Amino acid sequence: MSCINCDMCVPECPNEAISMGALHYQVTAELCTECEGFYDKPTCIVVCPIDCIALV
Ligand code: SF4
Ligand code: SF4
Repeated sequence: MSCINCDMCVPECPNEAISMGALHYQVTAELCTECEGFYDKPTCIVVCPIDCIALV
């Protein structure tokens, strides 16, 4: 499943690590802390309605 650009995840990211890429929203790995200190789980994954976010 690929991102449908629904915009749900962007305002949830505490590190502003999510932005629009060429086709889909994307996570900038250098900015992503997997929400450590903010949430118990990566909140972008929690809010994504289609579970398309994979953190590497
Ligand atoms: S895991 Fe957290 S810090 Fe990383 S992109 Fe998702 S919301 Fe942002
Ligand atoms: S919540 Fe999921 S589908 Fe929506 S923009 Fe973010 S990654 Fe894409």
